[in-house]
Amino acid sequence: MFAIRRERLVSTFPDGVEWLAVSQPANVTYLTGFTGEASWLLLCRQRAVLVSDGRFESQLAEERPDLEVVIRPPTRTTLETVADILQQAKAGNVGVEATQVTLAEAERLKELAPSITWVPMGGLVERLRRVKDPTEIEAIRASIDVAERAFAMFRAVLTGTESEKELADAMESYVRRAGGSGTSFPPIVAVGARSALPHAPPTDRRVNESPFLLLDWGATHRQYRSDITRIIRTGPRLGIGSSEWREIESRLEKLYTVVLRGQELAIRSIRAGVRAAEVDIAVRRYFEEQGYLREFNHGLGHGIGLQIHEGPSLRPSSPDVLEEGNVVTVEPALYIRGLGGVRIEDDVLVHADGCEVLTRVPKDWSMGIVW
Ligand code: ZN
Ligand code: ZN
Repeated sequence: MFAIRRERLVSTFPDGVEWLAVSQPANVTYLTGFTGEASWLLLCRQRAVLVSDGRFESQLAEERPDLEVVIRPPTRTTLETVADILQQAKAGNVGVEATQVTLAEAERLKELAPSITWVPMGGLVERLRRVKDPTEIEAIRASIDVAERAFAMFRAVLTGTESEKELADAMESYVRRAGGSGTSFPPIVAVGARSALPHAPPTDRRVNESPFLLLDWGATHRQYRSDITRIIRTGPRLGIGSSEWREIESRLEKLYTVVLRGQELAIRSIRAGVRAAEVDIAVRRYFEEQGYLREFNHGLGHGIGLQIHEGPSLRPSSPDVLEEGNVVTVEPALYIRGLGGVRIEDDVLVHADGCEVLTRVPKDWSMGIVW
């Protein structure tokens, strides 16, 4: 599987470039299966050399016995080792990942190997990673499963007296108890009006200070990530039911209905061959018709996989065209300062003739989201 990915990558090298030095960690994992850090993969048609250090020697023997592995001694840096290997191989033009290598590293490489022409390249591996193979789709499904089991625990023990911070911490442990290696990003727990901030950092605000909260969470499992957002109505269960709360709930329900319809519209239009920008713009246009012009202030979605944000990107200026095998989030939202925000986020798999919603947490206002 990894050898096939590497072969496919080599076939996309631009003319004149024989080697690619891959240093972006998720790209190295994608091409080798190796999960350690600070390791470079040097790739050409005939060879795949993984440069790592002593910390990972035994892990490498276990994880990737089919690779040519060079463990650099503690006296040599990774860059020195990379330069040595490529010079010994008489490499001419070597591509480096321009979005990963720092200017200082690029300068150092030039100093270490002046005979090599270092070619800045971007996005070659990321381009391949957009289209998931069956193993990856399986891993994403499993990661969603973990996130959903963690959510069941979250709901089961919620009492209403917890703070946003406590719940965010608790979610980390539920994800691990459900079998994940960790959350796929720090969970967002935003009570009431704080949900109007798309990336609200958790505070000491308590659940029972408002009739609802926004939860955005995901799991990492077998290296792959999931990403889900739900609004949890806590008002009915807390039973405080003041007129102020009822007012908030009824305004929120209106907002919720519009966001959910926007999401349904997007999901109906997603299939291979459709421009990602078009899907985003259709939702934005629908929101405008409903009277919301600036309340949706981020993109509609993003690819997920080894990283929480990867291609393709669903936003108005996206150049991407959806392809079979993309896995993307669909997360329309409306944020009203003072009231709060509604974001509904699901993960979908793009097929030739439509898309499959992989997440199953209920999102019906009247039933499913009541805790
Ligand atoms: Zn999210
Ligand atoms: Zn997301």
